[in-house]
Amino acid sequence: MIILGIESSCDETAAALVTGDRQVLAHRLLGQEAAHAPFGGVVPEIAARAHVEALEPLIVAALADAGLKLADVDAIAATAGPGLIGGVMVGLVTGKALAHAAGKPLIAVNHLEGHALSPRLSDPDLEFPYLLLLVSGGHCQLLLVEGVGAYRRLATTIDDAAGEAFDKTAKLLGLGFPGGPAVERAAALGDPKAVPLPRPLKGSAEPHFSFAGLKSAVARVVGQYSPEDLAASFQAAVVDCLIDRTTKALRTSHGATALVVAGGVAANTAVRGALQALASAHGLRFVAPPLWLCTDNAAMIGWAGAERFAAGLTDPLDVAARPRWPLDPNAEAVRGAGV
Ligand code: ATP
Ligand code: MG
Ligand code: FE
Repeated sequence: MIILGIESSCDETAAALVTGDRQVLAHRLLGQEAAHAPFGGVVPEIAARAHVEALEPLIVAALADAGLKLADVDAIAATAGPGLIGGVMVGLVTGKALAHAAGKPLIAVNHLEGHALSPRLSDPDLEFPYLLLLVSGGHCQLLLVEGVGAYRRLATTIDDAAGEAFDKTAKLLGLGFPGGPAVERAAALGDPKAVPLPRPLKGSAEPHFSFAGLKSAVARVVGQYSPEDLAASFQAAVVDCLIDRTTKALRTSHGATALVVAGGVAANTAVRGALQALASAHGLRFVAPPLWLCTDNAAMIGWAGAERFAAGLTDPLDVAARPRWPLDPNAEAVRGAGV
């Protein structure tokens, strides 16, 4: 089984060819950092236009890399949300057009399901159910992944996502955009104990995350410490919060076969290291995708497509693009939280 994956929900345009037995035959990606950097964040209209320009050549290049023609693929999987709606529509409409023209099934993939299942692409031994910390630019959730399409949300953020906190802190520290990798680089040169910063919701009875207060605390002391010490102290506080909340979730995730992390912030070495230690302390396996599979890419969309296709799940050509699309439709609304 060969799936063409298409991703365009934020500021990466990507195309990949993935097989049902976990081979990534090709993956192409074009980031838009340079286009958005002057604005200090992703500008939706600029993103949508950039996706229009980049997507078709990337698909052509990915097919050529894999030595395949469109006729050789079994299905086309495109991100259908959540994300910036203009970009999502570019990828989904392109997927629909290709599916229609080539007479192939379409699979509308939830971008978060792409992140959630990505660890199963890199680790063939990862079985359901697993406890997933999904930490990305727009989300910070703990999910019990029970199967393809079966996600139970245990916790979410009541304000900012973890990646968002990294990006805002990078801006405060003048480290540029995108912020996560820049903060991590600066943190490596600083003292994580130099700046006293809060750990919002640490030890709280509710399971959720909060990062807005941490970012505000950084804002109040900018200029009083070096950017390196601030970055290191901020990163240590984020890691503390992630570990505290994940520890709490572990108590209720009976039957989880592994502790898994995915999403852009999973590319952070301190985050990975702390989760690895937590998993060992609980006698659990720890699984994290390779760095390139943590941040947005089309291989994870192709893989989620492969998992859905194997389960007999395809979508009609009039399936809608969705700016918001919770992975767990039964999750209760949380004060201030996104999906
Ligand atoms: P979502 O998946 O929630 O829709 P997104 O697609 O924008 O959001 P991803 O591409 O998964 O998010 O992740 C991007 C986020 O990850 C950014 O906020 C970025 O700062 C953060 N990030 C990337 N690398 C690192 C790193 N090394 N350390 C910390 N954060 C990082
Ligand atoms: Mg991005
Ligand atoms: Fe993402």
